[in-house]
Amino acid sequence: MSLCHLDGNDLPLAEARLSPLDRGFLFGDGAYEVIPAYSRRPFRLAEHLARLENTLEALRLPNPHPAAAWAEIIARVIAGNPWEDQSVYLQVTRGADRVRRHAFPVPTRPTVFLMSEPLPLPGQTQLDNGVSAVSAADYRWLRCDLKTVALLANCLLRQQAVEAGCAETLLFRDGFLTEGAASNIFAVRAGVLLAPPRNALLLPGITRDLILELAASHGMPHEVRAISETEVRTADELWMTSSTKEVLPIVTLDGQPIGDGRPGELARRMHGWYRDFRDAETRRG
Ligand code: PMP
Repeated sequence: MSLCHLDGNDLPLAEARLSPLDRGFLFGDGAYEVIPAYSRRPFRLAEHLARLENTLEALRLPNPHPAAAWAEIIARVIAGNPWEDQSVYLQVTRGADRVRRHAFPVPTRPTVFLMSEPLPLPGQTQLDNGVSAVSAADYRWLRCDLKTVALLANCLLRQQAVEAGCAETLLFRDGFLTEGAASNIFAVRAGVLLAPPRNALLLPGITRDLILELAASHGMPHEVRAISETEVRTADELWMTSSTKEVLPIVTLDGQPIGDGRPGELARRMHGWYRDFRDAETRRG
C-alpha cells in the first residue's frame, strides 16, 4: 500500500478521497510535476519547484507552499514508501467549488495531492536496442510550456504510439519538431547535438536542460535551434528524454531506420554523463 499526501494529511493512497466538483476533475484545471528520487533523494528539486511556480503563476493559481514546505512534504512521501528509487507525482488544482462553473471559485482553496511510484527507468535491453517511435501533427494548445494536468491531447497522441507498438509519438508543428507526447526530443546530425529552443510550444524539460548543461560542460558540440521535420527524419541519432526515461535512443521513426538503426555513440556518451551526474548528486556511499 503506498502512502500519499492530500491537503495536509499523509494517508494510504486507497483511502484518499476528493470532491467530484474538484476543478482538476471537471476542467483539468491544475498544475503537476513528476520528480525522480534516487536513493530516496529528489533529483533537481529546485528546478522542478521553479517550473511548478511558473506553471501556477500562468494559471493564476497561488502557490500553496513555499519551497521548504514542498521539500518537507516530498521527503515525507518518499520516506513513507518502500522503494529506493521513486517517481514522485505532485499536483495542485484550483480545488472544488459549490457548483460547476468556469469562473474561478472565490475564495480558492487549492487541492494539493502527492503520490509516489517505483521509478520505471528503461531496462538495459531498451537502452541497448533503442526504441521505435511514430510521428503525428502536434494539435495541442499554444501553452505547451505549462505543465498542466489537462493532458488529453498528450494521452491521445501517446496512445497512437502504444497502438503501433512504439514507445513515443514525435510531434511536428508547421514542419518543425516540437517534442514527444511525454518527452523532449533531441537530434544528432554530423556530430552536433540539436535541441528545439524553449518556447510556448514545448515543455522546458528538466532533463532537457540538464542534457544541454552536460553537453556544454563535456564539450559536446550542440545547438539550440528549430529542427525541421526533414532534419529529424534524416538525423544520425534521435533521443527521447524525460525524468523517467532519462536518455533513451529512438532507432526507428514511422518504420524507417534513424541513422544505422542502432543507438548512436553520442547517446551512449550522454547517458553515461547523465548517470554519473545523477549518482554524484543523489546516491549514498
Ligand atoms: N515534454 C512533455 C510533454 C512531457 O510530458 C515531459 C515529461 N513527461 C517532458 C517533455 C520531459 O520533461 P522532464 O524532463 O522534466 O521530465
